[in-house]
Amino acid sequence: MTESVIPIFDLRDHRYRSMTPSIPGKLAAPTGLVADTRGRPLHDLRISVTDRCNFRCVYCMPKEVFDKDYTFLPHSELLSFEEIERTARLFVAHGVEKIRLTGGEPLLRKNIEHLVEMLAKIETVSGKPLDLTLTTNASLLARKARALRDAGLTRVSVSLDAIDDATFRRMNDVDFAVADVLHGIETAQAVGLAPIKVNMVVKRGTNDQEIVPMARHFRNSGIILRFIEFMDVGASNHWQMDEVLPSAEVVKRIDAEFPLEPVQANYSGETAERWRYRDGSGEVGVISSVTHAFCGDCSRIRLSTEGRLYLCLFATEGFDLRALLRGGYSDLEISNAIAQVWQGRTDNYSEQRSDPTVRARRAERKIEMSYIGG
Ligand code: SAM
Ligand code: SF4
Ligand code: SF4
Repeated sequence: MTESVIPIFDLRDHRYRSMTPSIPGKLAAPTGLVADTRGRPLHDLRISVTDRCNFRCVYCMPKEVFDKDYTFLPHSELLSFEEIERTARLFVAHGVEKIRLTGGEPLLRKNIEHLVEMLAKIETVSGKPLDLTLTTNASLLARKARALRDAGLTRVSVSLDAIDDATFRRMNDVDFAVADVLHGIETAQAVGLAPIKVNMVVKRGTNDQEIVPMARHFRNSGIILRFIEFMDVGASNHWQMDEVLPSAEVVKRIDAEFPLEPVQANYSGETAERWRYRDGSGEVGVISSVTHAFCGDCSRIRLSTEGRLYLCLFATEGFDLRALLRGGYSDLEISNAIAQVWQGRTDNYSEQRSDPTVRARRAERKIEMSYIGG
């Protein structure tokens, strides 16, 4: 049988291009293991549940772009919870063990706890519970933590870019107070979500003076603080290499105050390099997406709010899975289409970033972080 190839470009969308994945002519049941062209397995699925956010972090949704005239996706374009759950099951059958809900701000999606409940029931190929987590700015966490825990969420990651209130308000650009984020974190801890990770994006000259105060604040709390290098995601955040503070410098600054030693990775493909305080007061991590590319182990795929698959955070083009989900195709057909997309994957943008030609070619067309999730 020959391959059936369905439409090529979605010309309705001027922002992001997408192709509809083709259904292979010969269908095979998923084996729990699918590898891309570099032998990388599919381990980690990130699902964006909304492209909206109540923050305007300067490095993610700058106000001058995401202003009152910006058009977010209408509700009918979003994948429904049933469509997300179906997709998640198909991915898990290919070996996915970890699912992260993200956005935009995922807690803005109405009844998100119902989705958590549906996903928490899915078991991995080896019959274990999924590693199900969510990344949030914590503005609604105090209100939602208990319902999320009751629905089956076990852990959560919170984004917080400074412990100094004035610096944080400047970074979120909507005048949101640090105290309210800390209240969300405390509530999450109190209901038993664990481990809690706090992610800080470090932008040199904007919040790098907050590295040591953040470390000081979260030592002895049981919370794992992680520092993320400012990345050139999307096309709207005016990224400049000289605003990236290398993770090596982050470790040096913390180590000078609170001596650190390295810790072994939990698993191959883990994005954070782990360090612990020598005095036993906890752990920190650094995510060096710019200065130390980890494409070689990258087992992550991203599902956008309206059901497009992206093989890389820096992709310029997605695969319109929603067309298949709403097109009457069977689970087996869609599962094979997904496998084929992953098997063709070559992505390694972070390894190529230093090449100005590659950077220039992608500059205008990269997807935004708020659309695809972190
Ligand atoms: N709104 C939620 C939040 O902030 O946690 C989830 C979505 S947000 C896009 C996911 C993560 O991406 C956050 O930790 C955020 O700090 C990070 N992020 C956004 N833009 C970034 C950039 N240009 N470089 C590095 N990290 C970025
Ligand atoms: Fe919103 Fe998260 Fe982006 Fe900040 S990083 S603007 S909280 S999506
Ligand atoms: Fe993965 Fe793309 Fe990041 Fe490389 S640049 S680690 S392929 S998401």
